[in-house]
Amino acid sequence: LNTMKKKLIAGNWKMNGGLAANEALLRALREGLAQQAPACDVAVAVPAPYLAQTQALTAGTAIDFGAQDVSQHEAGAYTGEVSAGMLRDFGVRYVLVGHSERRQYHGETDADVAAKAQRALAAGITPIVCVGETLAQREAGETEAVVKRQLAAVIHLNGHCISEIVVAYEPVWAIGTGRTATPEQAQQVHAVLRGQLAAASTQADRIRLLYGGSMNAANAAQLLSQPDIDGGLVGGASLKAADFLQIIAAAR
Ligand code: PGA
Repeated sequence: LNTMKKKLIAGNWKMNGGLAANEALLRALREGLAQQAPACDVAVAVPAPYLAQTQALTAGTAIDFGAQDVSQHEAGAYTGEVSAGMLRDFGVRYVLVGHSERRQYHGETDADVAAKAQRALAAGITPIVCVGETLAQREAGETEAVVKRQLAAVIHLNGHCISEIVVAYEPVWAIGTGRTATPEQAQQVHAVLRGQLAAASTQADRIRLLYGGSMNAANAAQLLSQPDIDGGLVGGASLKAADFLQIIAAAR
């Protein structure tokens, strides 16, 4: 295990929350983290309207925060979109890019994902680039080809080192289904991604590869003990403070 690299546990709230619920959750996380002194980095990716609230409630704490998407354009006639510069105005540290729900429901292509990651980096925001195969792709034996293609799109971003990004492997069939990849299944894909990164960069060991897909308080420790799993991207379980805190405690 690389001791230079802290794990990262990032919550993905998706389109959940509200002012009152967010405040209760963030306060509970603050209190829990003040007691456990986490060994890992901690972040929450919140819906855009709550960035200011999250910024205020996490100031001076161990909790970093992020957004769930960013525009690939800098500014202008893109109704409904949020730019990287706007995210930076709120002190955003991370942004999810290419989550499978964006790829599936909004038709985001590998090229879109790369453009978004590029915009984030230019604004000083760390993109968490999500990759992962569908169930049909896994059953067709295409897992490796799919994740390699998705990762290849962001491996050579102009003027940036690959070590500036975080990668999250999220098998689509494991997201929100309660059907987690086994630690062995996840490690197998992480090793493929690590190998691809190592072929492209001497910094491959420094890049954090997160696992996501039904990670919870019960399965986190086993997943996080795999040699190439450097953290988690946590959806459902990040909405409950006690569960999220247990996952954070498992990230040693
Ligand atoms: P899940 O979501 O933990 O609810 O499966 C993970 C994700 O989509 O990032």
